[in-house]
Amino acid sequence: MRDEDDLNAAEISVSCDRRKSVRSPDPCIIVIFGASGDLTARKLIPALFELYLNVSLPDNFVIIGASRSSLDDESFKQRLRDKRPESSLEADGQWQEFLTRCFYMTLDYDEPIHYGHLRARVDILDKTYKTGGNRVFYLAIPPGIYPLVASHLGGAGLAKEGKKGQAWARIVVEKPFGRDLESALSLNKVMHKSFKEPQIFRIDHYLAKETVQNILMLRFANAMFEPLWNRNYIKYIGILASEELGVEHRAGYYEKSGVVRDMFQNHMMQLLALTAMESPSVFEADRVHDEKVKVFRSIKPFSEADPADNLILGQYGAGTIAGKKVVGYRQETDVDPGSLTPTFAMLRLYIDNWRWRGVPFYISSGKRMAQKKTKIVVQFRNVPHYMFRYLLGENIPANRLILGIYPQEEIKLTFQAKLPGAKLDMQTVNMNFQYQDFGRALDAYSRGILDCIQGEHMLFWRQDGVEQTWKYLDPILTQCRACKNKGGEPVKFYKAGSWGPDEALAWMGRILNVNV
Ligand code: NDP
Repeated sequence: MRDEDDLNAAEISVSCDRRKSVRSPDPCIIVIFGASGDLTARKLIPALFELYLNVSLPDNFVIIGASRSSLDDESFKQRLRDKRPESSLEADGQWQEFLTRCFYMTLDYDEPIHYGHLRARVDILDKTYKTGGNRVFYLAIPPGIYPLVASHLGGAGLAKEGKKGQAWARIVVEKPFGRDLESALSLNKVMHKSFKEPQIFRIDHYLAKETVQNILMLRFANAMFEPLWNRNYIKYIGILASEELGVEHRAGYYEKSGVVRDMFQNHMMQLLALTAMESPSVFEADRVHDEKVKVFRSIKPFSEADPADNLILGQYGAGTIAGKKVVGYRQETDVDPGSLTPTFAMLRLYIDNWRWRGVPFYISSGKRMAQKKTKIVVQFRNVPHYMFRYLLGENIPANRLILGIYPQEEIKLTFQAKLPGAKLDMQTVNMNFQYQDFGRALDAYSRGILDCIQGEHMLFWRQDGVEQTWKYLDPILTQCRACKNKGGEPVKFYKAGSWGPDEALAWMGRILNVNV
């Protein structure tokens, strides 16, 4: 019989083999719509360059930037040079090589003939660089024009695919996927006129963060957590994504969106699903999506009749961030001075199923808060019997598991230990795993783009998930809209640099484990 060490060695070699079996990406052309914009410069080009540096892009690849700005190949490359990614400074040779594969086309999104021109350009570059007829269309444009671009791509024959194993065409759609249930359904209908579901990649870069992917590994690849992962042992769960940044230059978008659309429908709901879902039968995209959708379906519907603290909405006022004075949301450029757009929300929700009945999930996100932090806190119940009561009092802190996503990528478990010495005394100590000990992780956008090129849907949204989350959030959006008629209620103001409105502080403190 093999001993434990042999077994471990065998398991390690199986997992290495699996890693080896990941096939190398197909050659392709990546067309980025909105190439003159913020997302392209700050995230997409650096992500593509990281893949190039890691030798994860196919040898035969081409990037075409497309937007209305009147640029040619050279001036587009100059723009990329002006905002070159930091990683390119130490890899100038590779950066110059990378730029030789970048091209540009000026295009009016509503001009069908321009898509014909795009097709002609794609065909020429395809032949020159032998990209096998494979295409990724990345929509880094305002969400309102997704349907337009998707339809015109279809109209120009750019969405057509060959049979399995032949040339493919994929479209990457940035969040937000609609503004509510109705618009999400209508966007999906339009997309499906040109693209089939397997061709559509609804990206949520949170899902591609290593620490977020690790939630399922932690829960389902270890025997010790799952038996405790339910209402019998867990008192509450906190999910927090706070930002120090304000609305920056995105006021036009944010005024219409607010925190619920910007953060909850996508990132926060994904963190909730990964924390609460059941184990899928196999680790395959559709089976994982099935389990996530079951969570969304089981969320107890929000109702105005719920206790008022089930939903706390806030908006930042003037304050201080990192020692610098900052203006309030209403004073930001392009924001309506009487705006009631929420920049903070805390939701207390319940999942009505056998596992979670009665366990509150506190989900909170906001801008201009004291620190940028993303984490999931699993607060366990107190021990049922205080056998140390007469020596240590009643208040032995309960265990807490923290899944840190930002700034520390970590897993931390708190427990009680006896302090050394003759006196019986106890202290809370941490077992701490730092993700950086594994080495450098691939950037989330790099991972998302790579998975799209490989046709892997695991880290993207499936439409039924999008619909279920809007279904849950629509009544909350109605509340936000009704604010104006209620003299501003329920939006509460908070000082920039704080942890949110006073009404939310008690729970924020419990999630952060400090008094705020
Ligand atoms: P931008 O506002 O920078 O717009 C991108 C490009 O779209 C612009 O350069 C412009 O190019 C074109 N554009 C802007 N407004 C219009 C308009 N009214 N009509 C037609 N074209 C317009 O957006 P971002 O780059 O910030 O974001 C792109 C997408 O990615 C959005 O859907 C956003 O929600 C999403 N996203 C962005 C993130 C970010 O960090 N920036 C993060 C997550 C998602 P031109 O005028 O040259 O055509």
